[in-house]
Amino acid sequence: MTKIAMTTPLVEMDGDEMTRILWKMIKDELILPYVDLKTEYYDLGLENRNNTKDQVTKDSAEATLKYGVAVKCATITPNAARVKEYNLSEMWKSPNGTIRAMLDGTVFRAPIIVKGIDPCVRNWKKPITLARHAYGDVYKNSEIKVDGPGKAELVFTKEDGTEIRELIHEFKGPGILQGMHNTVSSITSFAHSCFSFALETKQDLWFATKDTISKKYDHTFKDIFEELYEKEYKDKFDKAGIKYFYTLIDDAVARVMKEEGGFIWACKNYDGDVMSDMVSSAFGSLSMMTSVLVSPKGVFEYEAAHGTIQKHYYRYLEGEEAKSNPVASIFAWSGALRKRGELDNLPELSAFGDRLEAAVIKTIESGVMTADLSRITSLTNVRTVNTKEFFEEIKKNM
Ligand code: NAP
Ligand code: MG
Repeated sequence: MTKIAMTTPLVEMDGDEMTRILWKMIKDELILPYVDLKTEYYDLGLENRNNTKDQVTKDSAEATLKYGVAVKCATITPNAARVKEYNLSEMWKSPNGTIRAMLDGTVFRAPIIVKGIDPCVRNWKKPITLARHAYGDVYKNSEIKVDGPGKAELVFTKEDGTEIRELIHEFKGPGILQGMHNTVSSITSFAHSCFSFALETKQDLWFATKDTISKKYDHTFKDIFEELYEKEYKDKFDKAGIKYFYTLIDDAVARVMKEEGGFIWACKNYDGDVMSDMVSSAFGSLSMMTSVLVSPKGVFEYEAAHGTIQKHYYRYLEGEEAKSNPVASIFAWSGALRKRGELDNLPELSAFGDRLEAAVIKTIESGVMTADLSRITSLTNVRTVNTKEFFEEIKKNM
């Protein structure tokens, strides 16, 4: 069999623990036999991040900006326990955070829909893609605990020394204060990423804030989206037959429950944090959520939404066979290969991405699945398999 050719390399970001094991299995079993794979490899495993003082993470993001498409394995974000476990010289930052900042991107998460894994919300038939603005607001706040009476003011000092003051509250007793910010540049990038991704995937775009209450802060989000839409995207949306739709956040939440899905829901940072967990749990399983980082510069990084599946890895180290669900990681590869095919005008490569995904879905719908799914499936006649057996079945279906 001749293998499918590639021209530009994919930026490959390897990762940690169980997903690192799955990563190699996916390449060996499902990609390398079919594709003459070209990648520029970056080892983002924690050990190598530590050895390179995290330079490898920055290099991999630079390479993504250069080539345009990356595929990333889940990685450990170190905490105190990990610093000890891996004998780290520093508590390195989250690679996802570093890469997202360098690409100025927005993360789009979408569930993989298969028959037999039914969403808790009965009328959801198509995926709901959640886009979270990942900068500012409460995640970069300043807080004060006030222990008694006093006046709280918001003060902005311009470069020329002039001040703008706004009374927050005259405290009569103890209380709490919070200051937050966002920037026009970050909101604009977020809006560009959302509009581009909607066009790219031909789905309606929803955006919601609380602009009726927050007449300057949230209203600015609404205005930036609106202006950009009118100026740059309206015609393109009309041509593509898709809509941009703005509403209040509480209205959006109510409507989402009643819709079929098949749209992108853009959320401010906090709303996105909360709603993405709700949407993904309601769709069934974290192991079936895909994630793509889209930068307004036209750069894409594909990954699974879940982490490194630490518990499974420790069992694997004790000799247990790999049993984790590789679907979201497979879709990271298929998504990246499809995109590479589109950008390089290699229809065979894109078609391979489609074929791989179809084979995965067919496998699950035929009743062959890993344990995490067989626990929740509505199918009868299910065969629960380990990761290797799952791959064998996918290969038959390819
Ligand atoms: P996790 O990897 O998301 O896994 C949490 C639990 O979800 C697992 O124990 C497992 O449940 C289930 N699960 C997740 N993915 C699965 C899959 N593919 N197949 C089967 N079951 C799956 O979270 P974690 O284990 O708490 O986090 C481990 C590390 O991941 C952390 O160090 C964190 O920093 C990192 N992380 C990385 C990313 C990223 O790189 N994008 C994202 C999130 C977290 P059962 O144990 O019940 O089977
Ligand atoms: Mg959360």
